[in-house]
Amino acid sequence: MFETDPMPAARLLAWYDVFARDLPWRTPPGSQGTPDPYRVWLSEIMLQQTTVAAVRPYFAHFTARWSDVGALAAADDDAVMAAWAGLGYYARARNLLACARAVAARGGFPDTEEELRALPGVGAYTAAAIAAIAFGRRAVVVDANVERVVSRLFGIEEPLPKSRPVIRAATDAITPDARAGDFAQAMMDLGAGVCTPKTPYCLECPLHAGCRGREQSIAADLPRKLPKKPRPDRRGTAFFAVHGGDVLLVRRAGRGMLGGMWALPDDGWAAGCDGDGMPPFPADWTAVDGIVEHGFTHFALSLSVQETQVATRQNLPDAQWWPIDRIADAGLPTLFAKAARLALGQKDNHGQQGNQGQQAEFE
Ligand code: SF4
Repeated sequence: MFETDPMPAARLLAWYDVFARDLPWRTPPGSQGTPDPYRVWLSEIMLQQTTVAAVRPYFAHFTARWSDVGALAAADDDAVMAAWAGLGYYARARNLLACARAVAARGGFPDTEEELRALPGVGAYTAAAIAAIAFGRRAVVVDANVERVVSRLFGIEEPLPKSRPVIRAATDAITPDARAGDFAQAMMDLGAGVCTPKTPYCLECPLHAGCRGREQSIAADLPRKLPKKPRPDRRGTAFFAVHGGDVLLVRRAGRGMLGGMWALPDDGWAAGCDGDGMPPFPADWTAVDGIVEHGFTHFALSLSVQETQVATRQNLPDAQWWPIDRIADAGLPTLFAKAARLALGQKDNHGQQGNQGQQAEFE
């Protein structure tokens, strides 16, 4: 369908040699050898649905604390989940541990896309990225940045997601045999800094000549997407129960929303339904002023908070009483960290806690 054209790859790699982003999980373009597969894998898992800016401090913390895959495999589950808190999509953290343990058990990372794909939490994109970047294998690496660049370069007007096979074939046609990892990272960098979502800076682009989207003046409109369904609004309640200087935390069920994380008790809200408003035990609950507004991938949640002081500690299954003065160390997901701040009177603006200006967190 697409004629193989070596020129875009050559021009792109020459541009990458000069303008590659300096990222802590990378080796500079053209380096001898390939980067540490552990660092490549960790960064790729963290970067799924998350920005480079958000990932940087987490990557630094993880690699300082667990310097290789064996150390991470031996880590305590709670310590890893707490270290991940705030990065969102918590299934990734559970899969991260499962994958580290599988890799440690087999004595190291496999180096083919097929074997990488069989590891927990490693999908088609991630397997291709690791195979190319960490092992120098030719692989067709297509993330959202690449989808945009390739849609524009080839003038692909069919909307996503139907256009994915065409985009993949086009990417395959321009992927070189040599420097596969640099090519993949160059495409990502071009999409992040030059062929940006709203404004393609075509005059600075190494793929300027021959870019059909630019020639047809449709680049900024590509890739086309089918209209999104509106996200439903859900309502729920979290409960802030205090005894002495401690607050009650519960561990969420292993599978499902924010699974396996320590959290405030709540009333069972979910993507498909509002919460039932029922507290975890009878007590003199009072409503806290304000609402926590939080965005999830498929719905928006308005979370009320109720609080109470109890004279005796309730013994709930999978629960603990945590010191309030160390609440920031509890590893709460962002939603519940915001709810705790609201209960503690640390309001962001006019008594309302929102996620504007804060790192969004999705699940
Ligand atoms: Fe994107 Fe413009 Fe480069 Fe085409 S020429 S790939 S539209 S930045």
